Amino acid sequence: SGSHGHIAHADATASDGGHALSEVVPKKKKLVLLGTGWAGMSFLKNLNNPTYEVEIVSPRNFFVFTPLLPSVTCGKVEARSIAEPIRNIIIKKNVDISFSEAECVKIDPQNKKIYCRATIDSHSKGEEEFAVDYDYLIIAVGAQVNTFNTPGVMENCHFLKEIDDAQKIRKNVIESFEKASLPSLSDEERKKILHFVIVGGGPTGVEFAAELHDFVNEDVVKLYPKVKDLVKITLLEATDHILNMFDKRITNFAENKFGRDGIDVKLGSMVTGINENEISTKARGNGKTSSTPYGMVLWSTGIGPRPLIKEFMKQIGQGNRRALATDEWLRVEGFDNIYALGDCATINQRKVMVPILKEFQETLDDICERYPQVELYLKNKQKRNIVDLVKEAKGDAAKQSMELNIEEFKAALSEVDSQMKNLPATAQVANQQGAYLAKCFNRMEECEKNPEGPPRFRGTGHHRFHPFRYRHLGQFAPLGGEQTAAELPGDWVSIGHSSQWLWYSVYASKQVSWRTRALVVSDWLRRFIFGRDTSG
Ligand code: FAD
Ligand code: MG
Ligand code: MG
Ligand code: MG
Ligand code: MG
Repeated sequence: SGSHGHIAHADATASDGGHALSEVVPKKKKLVLLGTGWAGMSFLKNLNNPTYEVEIVSPRNFFVFTPLLPSVTCGKVEARSIAEPIRNIIIKKNVDISFSEAECVKIDPQNKKIYCRATIDSHSKGEEEFAVDYDYLIIAVGAQVNTFNTPGVMENCHFLKEIDDAQKIRKNVIESFEKASLPSLSDEERKKILHFVIVGGGPTGVEFAAELHDFVNEDVVKLYPKVKDLVKITLLEATDHILNMFDKRITNFAENKFGRDGIDVKLGSMVTGINENEISTKARGNGKTSSTPYGMVLWSTGIGPRPLIKEFMKQIGQGNRRALATDEWLRVEGFDNIYALGDCATINQRKVMVPILKEFQETLDDICERYPQVELYLKNKQKRNIVDLVKEAKGDAAKQSMELNIEEFKAALSEVDSQMKNLPATAQVANQQGAYLAKCFNRMEECEKNPEGPPRFRGTGHHRFHPFRYRHLGQFAPLGGEQTAAELPGDWVSIGHSSQWLWYSVYASKQVSWRTRALVVSDWLRRFIFGRDTSG
């Protein structure tokens, strides 16, 4: 009946509409999606409810498989192999979807409208700006690099966030070797050009350092034998360890491996500024400052909110936050029809303690409804407190242990609360959130027709769905030399060549289409057989 409704609607909107059918078929709800990254793509792939009219607005008409971006920087994988055109995804859907290559510049929640600016080079001024109405707005615009206002970073550093960035880095790396090979230079100048600095010891910085080291070891030694010994790779990390978010064993292994590889890892080293020639740092312990000449810097220290999100947060009284706060159903706090997911949002998790105790109370209320005698009993006792109820019901001995258990239980809950962390800004989270939200939209009408909902879920609207739950499937840290560290659920850590193969197979299987899968795998094979392509 879904496809029938779809056809009928198409009829009704035709110029000679006004048949009986048009009154039967309700107008499609307009769903506007901002962003074609991990969260947006995953939402789109999983949405299969044809009763929505979907409009996508994104400055990028393709999806990027970001985990392979570092592989592009030194030519292990080609840029086009990890990009999937969004129209390839749209065309496979039975949902009414349109796409506009533009960025959203303002959200007006009162009038349910967004304002956009086309990002395509256009000669015809005036057509570049437009507004879009929505019934539902899904914000999945990701985040941007964070410079922490360090002077000179924007002007002098490379970033690794988009395909263009990776291509620029690749070109720059190869050009550096060509430049350093010119006959007119002194060794001092060559050393400066071949000093690669990476700021930030997170997964991206570490992986780029490893890629660069592999490139030097596998290809540069053969292709640029005269300058190979002048190469230096420095990794600056402000905290005490690289790969903080990984298991200690992985951090230690990575630091040791980089040490053996000759990558200079400087821990507790804060960058204070960068000019055209030098990068300045300050040691965290003794405050000692120093400046070093460099050839190229990759800045990879984390993310911050995009201007659109900053502005929107100010508008809705969420100013000074680092990401949009949503409830556990991914709805922006205070709005029933605006959702946010992925790197631009965080779930404002409720504390566990209060709701669990509340849930006991609610269960008790249910029991009272069904078994009035309990209610009567409770009224007599003038007590509706679960602890007291348990005490009344049990014997004296049991009373004490039960009381103790509940106290222990409370202590355990507050322990959980104190350890509560925000979900990480990863593709894994964005991907699961997109799929979750699509499932909610797939089932929305069904739930509206059946407002009672399953008894476990109270409330209105999306509250009839399970809240979003993240399932951590583990994480990888490629460390170079065909060695990868893998951290899988259940405290399982594996480091070495076998996890490199796991990495290859997981990343091949995670590709969004057979096209990109084939391209990525053939890039890997090509590199194994012929080495990297070093035409800059
Ligand atoms: P994005 O994927 O960044 O997508 C945002 C989208 O919004 C883009 O299409 C963008 O063009 C669009 N957009 C931007 N501004 C606007 C606007 N104003 N209006 C409309 N659209 C807009 N995660 C992992 O789990 N594993 C990894 O191995 C991993 N490796 C990574 C390696 C690198 C180099 C990088 C940069 C990230 C990596 N990540 C990894 C993190 C992961 O890529 C992000 O967490 C994920 O992309 C977040 O998804 P998102 O949809 O929120 O944002
Ligand atoms: Mg997105
Ligand atoms: Mg992406
Ligand atoms: Mg992003
Ligand atoms: Mg997030």
